[in-house]
Amino acid sequence: MKLAVYGKGGIGKSTTSCNISVALARRGKKVLQIGCDPKHDSTFTLTGFLIPTIIDTLQEKDYHYEDVWSEDVIYKGYGGVDCVEAGGPPAGAGCGGYVVGETVKLLKELNAFDEYDVILFDVLGDVVCGGFAAPLNYADYCMIVTDNGFDALFAANRIAASVREKARTHPLRLGGLIGNRTSKRDLIDKYVETVPMPILEILPLIEDIRVSRVKGKTLFEMAETDPSLNYVCDYYLNIADQILARPEGVVPTDTPDRELFSLLSDF
Ligand code: ADP
Ligand code: MG
Repeated sequence: MKLAVYGKGGIGKSTTSCNISVALARRGKKVLQIGCDPKHDSTFTLTGFLIPTIIDTLQEKDYHYEDVWSEDVIYKGYGGVDCVEAGGPPAGAGCGGYVVGETVKLLKELNAFDEYDVILFDVLGDVVCGGFAAPLNYADYCMIVTDNGFDALFAANRIAASVREKARTHPLRLGGLIGNRTSKRDLIDKYVETVPMPILEILPLIEDIRVSRVKGKTLFEMAETDPSLNYVCDYYLNIADQILARPEGVVPTDTPDRELFSLLSDF
């Protein structure tokens, strides 16, 4: 099964992705997480360091794919989760979609692409170009991380539109929204009334999640020494269980930006 996690920058995609990956591994799945953000810190809380990116490695080897070995690009992370960072195109030039394409091509050549029960793509932000929508070509489910604010929901709507577009030609479904860093959900609820989609979970702002980034650990690793954090792991296990149940998901309906603007504003 292939998953793509999308959402506005800084919303918590990588944090959420790493913890969902460990949760899936706890359920006995062989998991690969692929960071597709030029920021290349997607897997940081799994490995505890910034691993070399596929693009860096390919450049080093002059794009001789046959000289690249699995251990050059696939790193072992916490809980048995394997980690890859695609890396970014040259700043201001190149295309994110090309990078994702090269990453998948290389993993296929290494016979790694079909070896996993779950591959999770952690993808940056507001999909406005076909390049950053590229992981949707491979995904069974897209999940969108959002808070209860206008900007993240606006981005969510653009991502939903991309899913609708890709679903014309691919067996892709929107798995649902993950509310993050929020205890309020009125705008999230308002949005899903208009564009119906499941809400998989709503996580509040939790200081220990913020700290996990600084420590370079997932909540599961932190809970080993502090069992009071098990309740946080349960949020991620709940998301993992819902996805593993292969839900029907949705092909999102169309809501033009202007309509969403007035829906989420107070006028
Ligand atoms: P993204 O990958 O979307 O850019 P990150 O996962 O890097 O975002 O998260 C950005 C910051 O927000 C990190 O420092 C992370 O620890 C923090 N964070 C994410 N989710 C939560 C949460 N539920 N509570 C508190 N802090 C969070
Ligand atoms: Mg990230």
